[in-house]
Amino acid sequence: MISSKITKKQLVHDLKTMGIEEGEHLGLGLSFKNIGPIEGGPETFVDSIMEAVGLNGTIMLASFSIPSHVKRDYVFNYRTTPAYTGLIPEIVRKRRDSVRSKHPSNSVVVLGRLAEYLTKGHIHEDSEYEPYSRLAKAGGKILIIGIGNRLVGLRHQAQYQAGLLDKVQGNQKIKFLDDDGRIKIFTRRNWGGCVKQLNTLLPMLRKKGLVKEGHIGNAKSFLVPARESIEEIAQILKKNPEINLCNDITCLWCRQLEWKMDLYKDVERPRSFQKNPIFKYTIVAINWVRLKNLPMVTCLEEVINIKLLKNCEKKN
Ligand SMILES: [Zn+2]
Repeated sequence: MISSKITKKQLVHDLKTMGIEEGEHLGLGLSFKNIGPIEGGPETFVDSIMEAVGLNGTIMLASFSIPSHVKRDYVFNYRTTPAYTGLIPEIVRKRRDSVRSKHPSNSVVVLGRLAEYLTKGHIHEDSEYEPYSRLAKAGGKILIIGIGNRLVGLRHQAQYQAGLLDKVQGNQKIKFLDDDGRIKIFTRRNWGGCVKQLNTLLPMLRKKGLVKEGHIGNAKSFLVPARESIEEIAQILKKNPEINLCNDITCLWCRQLEWKMDLYKDVERPRSFQKNPIFKYTIVAINWVRLKNLPMVTCLEEVINIKLLKNCEKKN
């Protein structure tokens, strides 16, 4: 019987057809299962992509860990803590030649030539998204596989460059082990802004001719240059920060952003909670309490996700 599984040869071919060249530095955002069944599984996928970028190329993935409001006894150890960002980041993390940065909340794992450069000094004192900024400076690209229009690897860096992340600050505490094996506490003030609305920006990148599209296995994929795309999104957000606002009344980040920047008048189709002053002030008051007293759970959706994550943990 002929196997219907996707082979390494086919994956390398798909990657090259997408425009990936040798020596390329890639930030990856993906859903592994949407690629389809691969002969040899996730390891083969990592091998294929490393073959496509060659010895001089690099791949980088977010290996963020579980937020501490999910697990109370959690202590981040960059050497051993699993990546909660999916199967592929975890496989890359476990590879001998990969390097993981030490940032307690926003670590990345990197394989390839720029591994040292992208991860060096990315510790709790550094900007959360620094490796992405370095990838952009190095002329890297972002490859998105099978996750729709989500601009993973660009969104928060663009929000940061647009000055939006400084506007809404919290104080999430994360414990981590330092190099000497001592437990320290990192207070994360800058938490990644809400990204529910940012998928709508992909067409704008397309219009600028920045997007290459294709398929990796069965998954719809796209490739964009990191620097130009981040700059483009940052420019749009700087000019029209209201584009970033989602419609979720419980979204702490968006409701705080519109309040702090007084964006109510700029929203194209304002909701009642953006028009009615009683609503507006009530939300601001509730969110003031949330920011002061609660860990950084940003919206109802996240509460549901955390529940699912906890159930998953119990099963495993
Ligand atoms: Zn939001």
